[in-house]
Amino acid sequence: MRTLVLWDIDHTLISIDGLSREIYGEAFHEVTGRPMDKLADMAGKTDRAIVSETLRLHGIAPAAEVITAFADVLAAAFTARQTEIKKRGRELPGARTALTELAARTDTVQSVLTGNMKPIAVCKLTAFDLQGFVDFEVGAYGLDDAARAPLVGLARQRAKQKYGETFNASTTVLIGDTPNDVDAGHRGGARVVAMATGASDADELRAAGAEIVLPDLTDTDAVVRAILQVSTT
Ligand SMILES: [Mg+2]
Repeated sequence: MRTLVLWDIDHTLISIDGLSREIYGEAFHEVTGRPMDKLADMAGKTDRAIVSETLRLHGIAPAAEVITAFADVLAAAFTARQTEIKKRGRELPGARTALTELAARTDTVQSVLTGNMKPIAVCKLTAFDLQGFVDFEVGAYGLDDAARAPLVGLARQRAKQKYGETFNASTTVLIGDTPNDVDAGHRGGARVVAMATGASDADELRAAGAEIVLPDLTDTDAVVRAILQVSTT
């Protein structure tokens, strides 16, 4: 049996800091004709939830067609700024080596579980040339659901469809940087290895219930060991 490894993207593998806010602002303006005064909290949230909440913060009802229009504009805006994403963002230390190491193993399947909608997830990882290490087909994304927890089951279902293997709560491992990732993993049916590379420190991630917390991805052996340790195939 193999382990399904599902990576969060922002502040776990890469960071593009203020650029996301700028792009959200542009998209908001294009869709609503108004400036974006406030942006919903983004940490560990899905694009569907961020878009809905941001619209609500401006007194706009998040109707399905508005969300779809917003999502389309957002995806195009991220894609148009891919070069800038690379220039202003950064690949987090150890990310490439960890992805490389796991991609080479025969006992793991590697994908993403991210709040980013799929085209944005692909755009961000491609900007840093990290797209080749993960199987995007079996991932779960920010438009699949507003909540993060249901994404776990979706990814497991997609992996089963593609590989004919059943991944359960003890053979699915999420790697993320927020208490929301930890919570989603446990509610959705997965073990969680957390990285203290986002806004939350190791104590917060431990308090949220992460099975293992690491400071970052720089110790590749520790990362791989943690993943294999928490999953019982
Ligand atoms: Mg994150």
